[in-house]
Amino acid sequence: MELGISGKKAIVCAASKGLGRGCAEALAGEGVDLVICARGEETLEATALAIRKNTGVEVRTVACDVTTEVGRESLLAACPDPDILINNAGGPPPGEFKDFTLDDWRKAVEANMLSPIALTQSVVYSMMERGFGRIVNITSAAVKAPINLLDLSNGARMGLTGGVAIVARNASRHNVTINGLLPGTFETDRLRQNLAKNAEVRNITPEQAAADRISMIPARRFGKTEEFGAICAFLCSVHAGYLTAQNIVVDGGAFPGAL
Ligand code: NAP
Repeated sequence: MELGISGKKAIVCAASKGLGRGCAEALAGEGVDLVICARGEETLEATALAIRKNTGVEVRTVACDVTTEVGRESLLAACPDPDILINNAGGPPPGEFKDFTLDDWRKAVEANMLSPIALTQSVVYSMMERGFGRIVNITSAAVKAPINLLDLSNGARMGLTGGVAIVARNASRHNVTINGLLPGTFETDRLRQNLAKNAEVRNITPEQAAADRISMIPARRFGKTEEFGAICAFLCSVHAGYLTAQNIVVDGGAFPGAL
């Protein structure tokens, strides 16, 4: 299917690795020019080089922390009027509710709620004026079913989901959509780190920890970043203008609810 977005401009946040990179690659594959960011410059440049080589699109890089005001300003300076915005950042650390400080909560809210809200506010009105815009918030399956030990993520991401629910509806008459894309368990560095930690705590091998996790997923495997990117690209396509204010779980069937 031709997605109809060739020549559009996208900001993809936190895109040197993992899910963000998957989205950047899928958009580039559709001919979308990119501005991508991450904090680590070396990996970011290597990713940009690989995407340029594979797709021929323009890929500009901004090495920054997207959870800071300065970082977001530099990103917007590189691309003030994106047609597509993919909001993403690292997730908050796991832990016990009793141990979290207010500062931990503030950091999580800043990174996973306020940062995507600020970027959305900066670009959504000019998208509405131009009559096209696609915003995808990479959140987590935790938005539908809170995850044990991830209270910080559960809370901040639900805040983001509620925070954009009305602007998503108001923007839709201008052909601007805002959706959440909710990953379950995808093969990324973050997952590998989580499995290593899980294995250490349980005194088992990382392979056993992975097998245990997979046994809880109906698809009996982890998701691939390419699969996540393809869904993201479709949400950004000209065909998805009537699909807005939704929170789409991509988890191999792990969410147990029927709706
Ligand atoms: P990942 O493989 O560790 O990749 C994270 C990417 O984000 C890297 O490019 C990293 O580069 C960049 N990044 C992190 N913090 C940043 C910041 N403050 N500013 C700019 N760039 C930043 O992680 P992932 O698995 O793709 O996860 C992406 C998001 O999805 C996270 O919020 C995660 O919690 C969430 N999620 C993932 C899964 C999963 O199964 N993988 C499931 C549910 C939710 P630098 O470190 O160089 O900045």
